[in-house]
This record gives sequence, structure tokens and C-alpha cells, in this order.
Amino acid sequence: MRIDILTIFPDMFPCVLDASIIGRAQDKGLVDIRVWNLRDWTTDKHKTTDDTPYGGGGGMVMKPEPIFAAVEDIRGEEDAPVILLTPQGRLFTQAMAEELAQQERLIFICGRYEGVDERVREHLVTDEISIGDYVLSGGELAAMVIVDAVVRLLPGALGYERAAAEDSHATGLLEGPHYTRPPIFRGWKVPEVLRSGHHAKVAAWRRKQALKRTLERRPDLLARAPLSEQDKQWLREMGYQGPFKNDSETE
Ligand code: SAM
Repeated sequence: MRIDILTIFPDMFPCVLDASIIGRAQDKGLVDIRVWNLRDWTTDKHKTTDDTPYGGGGGMVMKPEPIFAAVEDIRGEEDAPVILLTPQGRLFTQAMAEELAQQERLIFICGRYEGVDERVREHLVTDEISIGDYVLSGGELAAMVIVDAVVRLLPGALGYERAAAEDSHATGLLEGPHYTRPPIFRGWKVPEVLRSGHHAKVAAWRRKQALKRTLERRPDLLARAPLSEQDKQWLREMGYQGPFKNDSETE
């Protein structure tokens, strides 16, 4: 996979992209991430990427010319998704990370100031993504969040392949608790079942814990999660009274 990121603050990226899982994924050749300085596509001596808004008002708006020129250069003849980071985009989820991880190429545009000229959104961008209902100063952190979530899904990126499949949200549920040594810390014990070596019992315990945790913290997820009849029974026993995914389909 190749990922191109367009920004006026390229220096923000190396620390995050070169570390840990993303850094290793690049070293292994699973992903080629290139961060581009938008100013390299400006034509004036001040390398201007923004201008005052038409209609007045405060703030600055990112000019369309360098963004179009950069994307057209970087994309070449290939047909790559061009993603604008914006608090007005569709809300980023694990399902979207999985979709993006299937792509050969991704191009991200990081906005700044009041955002980008509307013509970029209308005529260049193919997708608009928000990482949450709050406003950041720029799209760089949002791009890093999405790149991290996508790259760790690439086959070979994680040391332990099943980890991503069991993570919170990948299963539609929150993951249950984890423990490591020592078995007793300050008098607090690791649950006995985890030390039993009984794989089926451990799996059942983990599944129940994931259901319990989701019920306690994000009951809204339960109505959409793929659940077995056993899961549903456990949830009812835990006091969940809401709907399940297939309820309406089976009625
Ligand atoms: N005036 C814009 C609005 O109200 O929609 C917000 C501009 S924000 C200060 C500057 C840039 O930060 C945006 O162009 C976008 O690239 C990025 N940004 C801010 N919040 C974001 C979010 N929640 N998700 C993704 N990108 C965001």
C-alpha cells in the first residue's frame, strides 16, 4: 500500500510514522508513506498556501491551486482515493479503517485555518473523514490517527496476527480485560480461569467479559454486533433488555 499525505507541517509526522508498528510496517515494505509539503506546489516567492475568505470574516482559507497541483502530480495516472480530513466528514470507525486497508493507495489532504477552498471538496476530493465531533487546529493529527488504524490492519504489520481481529470494535464489541504476571499484585489476583490452561473455558470467559464490558460501557454497540444465541442468552442474564441485530429480520 502507498499512502501520500499533503500538509504544510510535514515535520509533525516522522516521530509518529517512524515509530513502533507503522515504522516496522514501512521497514518490512508493507506500506510506503510519503509526506509532502504543500508549499512545494506554490508558485509565488512567499510560497503562499492560504488567502483571506471571500465575503469577509476572520481566518484564512487554503487556496485551491497548490492542492490541485500537488494531488494531480502525486496521483499521476492512477486512480487513488483522495481523502480530505474535516470535522464535517463521515465519522471514522474501525469498519472504515478496514475498508481503507483494502486500498492500494490513499491520498490525505490536511486542512488548516478555516479549512480548504470549497472547490477542492467539490472537484478533487473523493471522501471526507472526521475523527470525531470536535475541532482540531489541523488535519495532521487526524491523518496520523487514520494511518495508524489502517496500517496496523495490513497483513504482517502486527507481531500477533489475531490481535487486530480480537480488538475492541473489530468484533463489534469492546474487548475484555487483559492480565499479565505477577499472578497476585498487591493482593489483587488474576482470575483463576486464565491460569487454568483450559482453552475452551478461557475463550468462554473472554467472550463473556467482552459482552459484559460492552453492556456496561457501550450498550449501543450491542444492537449492531454480530452475536451468537449463546451471547444473547448471556446478555439477557446480565440484564440487557435492548434489541439484537437480527431481531427485526427474524420477525
Ligand atoms: N472551519 C472548519 C469547520 O468549522 O468545519 C474547521 C477548520 S479546522 C480549525 C482546520 C482543519 O483541521 C480542517 O480543515 C481539517 O483538516 C482539520 N480538522 C479539524 N477537526 C477535525 C476533525 N474532527 N477530523 C478531521 N480533521 C479535522
